[in-house]
Amino acid sequence: MDNSIPSEYLEIKRIARRFVDTELVPLEAEIERTGSVARELRKPLMRKYAQLGLRGLSMPTQYGGAGLGVLAHCLLGEAEARALDAFQFIFRGGDPLLAHAASEELKQRYLVPLIRGDVEHCVALTEPGAGSDAGAIQTLATRTDGGFLLNGAKHFISNAEYADFAVLFAVTNRSLGSGRGISAFVVDMNSPGLKLGRRQVMMGRQGWHQSEIFLQDCFVPADHLIGAVDQGFELAKRFLAGTRIVTAGANCIGVAEQCLELSLEYAKQRRTFGKTIINHQAVQFMLADMVTDLHTARLLVYDAAASVDRGESPMPKASMVKLFTSEMVGRAADSAVQIHGGMGYCRELPIERIYRDARVWRIVDGTSEIQRQMIGGWLDRHGADQFLMK
Ligand SMILES: Cc1cc2nc3c(=O)[nH]c(=O)nc-3n(C[C@H](O)[C@H](O)[C@H](O)COP(=O)(O)OP(=O)(O)OC[C@H]3O[C@@H](n4cnc5c(N)ncnc54)[C@H](O)[C@@H]3O)c2cc1C
Repeated sequence: MDNSIPSEYLEIKRIARRFVDTELVPLEAEIERTGSVARELRKPLMRKYAQLGLRGLSMPTQYGGAGLGVLAHCLLGEAEARALDAFQFIFRGGDPLLAHAASEELKQRYLVPLIRGDVEHCVALTEPGAGSDAGAIQTLATRTDGGFLLNGAKHFISNAEYADFAVLFAVTNRSLGSGRGISAFVVDMNSPGLKLGRRQVMMGRQGWHQSEIFLQDCFVPADHLIGAVDQGFELAKRFLAGTRIVTAGANCIGVAEQCLELSLEYAKQRRTFGKTIINHQAVQFMLADMVTDLHTARLLVYDAAASVDRGESPMPKASMVKLFTSEMVGRAADSAVQIHGGMGYCRELPIERIYRDARVWRIVDGTSEIQRQMIGGWLDRHGADQFLMK
């Protein structure tokens, strides 16, 4: 498989892996202890990563990105997945909506510093009453002199606590019905009328915090609209689907790689009944299923990434990637716990954390059920010819 991947992409993976091993892994014990990355470390880490050219890898070069495609970003994502999720703020060095739909002024003011590692951001779509059914959000943006007034509440917003600005979705025209009349805005997190709510403690992903955001007559200037008014949801569907190939697909591959490596190593040294456990067929079968699953997922991810890089629509492959890889990583983490026995459940090894962290992938960024619904809807509209090799 490596023959089909340009050597410079593999080099990107190696450089990122070195950064993770030398700069981030030594900080992990302290993060596990405190539950956060210290504020004073955040900017230096982001800037260091930016200086390696890895922040904003697929962002346009005129704004400081590397201008590479989705496949290159996947290789990077695999290496990044080996770090704690607490470091996600280092890796999210761009924003597809800003890059593809925002005005030149917004790009200069928000995207450039984001890629450079000078600021952090968050994406605020989900609300207590609208997750999977994101088109049903209720946060309202009403026109006022020179801009909009935002009123409503968001929740589960990753990195809201540290973000300098949010890409935030609100309804601008309710009469258009669910999923329409929604606009995307850049909102400064220190805007009057914007208040951070409580931190919502999760099962895993320690240090990558989710929070509520409350908006009460929060003024947003008209020029902070991303793209055309009422088009925000369409833009999100157009530009965010492809990002799932990296954010979910490549990430799950990186985690599954780690599960396989750790499990194989353990199975070759742990002895029971007079032999190493890799010599028990039941353990071998678990490893065989893990590697088969991992390789299948990788083929799916690389194929989806390459087709987006060729300019093809990301659907339905992006949803297939999200569905398959998120379920694959769950199986890999579960087998890793089983192969490690009691040590897999014990906090002395990273396996139990990986198991907890992996569970979120079937939920976040569109659940498995929603991905199946999107794939099914696509088949209904387009038929299956693309996958029948007729
Ligand atoms: C750790 C974490 C980080 C997050 N970060 C962000 C973030 O940064 N920004 C942001 O905007 N959001 C974020 N989210 C929100 C996330 O995207 C939503 O949780 C997710 O989309 C699911 O929405 P929900 O939780 O409201 O579940 P619900 O929509 O209430 O779904 C509940 C269950 O019903 C099922 N279901 C719903 N509708 C259907 C249907 N039509 N057919 C079949 N089954 C259905 C779902 O699959 C699920 O099993 C985050 C969530 C988590 C847990």
